[in-house]
Amino acid sequence: MAEYETKQRRILLNYLNAHPERGFSVEELFDALSAEHTADIVPGKSTIYRLIARLVSEGLVKRFAAEKGRQFAYQIVACNACDAHLHLKCTACGSLYHMDHAVSEQIMREVLSRSEFSLDEKETVLFGVCKSCKPRQRK
Ligand SMILES: [Zn+2]
Ligand SMILES: [Zn+2]
Repeated sequence: MAEYETKQRRILLNYLNAHPERGFSVEELFDALSAEHTADIVPGKSTIYRLIARLVSEGLVKRFAAEKGRQFAYQIVACNACDAHLHLKCTACGSLYHMDHAVSEQIMREVLSRSEFSLDEKETVLFGVCKSCKPRQRK
C-alpha cells in the first residue's frame, strides 16, 4: 500500500474508532474528515469506498444497511461478536446499539418457531428511537 494510502487509512480508522457508537455513510465520513484534516491528506470519496471495503473484508468495520433511501452506514466493530447478535439503530441520532445476546437469541428463536423464518443476525438491524432521543421527539 502506498504511504499516502496508509495515512488515509489511519485517519479513517481513527475517526471511526473515535465514534464507535454510530455508523457513517461514505458521504458523512468525507465531510467529517474534511473538517478535521487538511485537503492534501483527506481521501476522496472513491478512495474512502475502497479503503472501507478493505476494512470490512478485514473485519474491522461492519457494514449496515441504512434506512430507506439512504446509503450504507459503516461502523467500527467495537465488540467481537457482532455477527452473533442483532443490532438496533436509532433513526434520530444514528447511534447503533448491540443487542443483548440473550434477547437477540430469544427473538431469533421466536421468529423461527412462529414464522418458520430464520433471521440473518449479521444483516438484521431494527430501526427505532433510542432512550436519549425519545424525550426530545415527544415534544
Ligand atoms: Zn454488535
Ligand atoms: Zn438516538
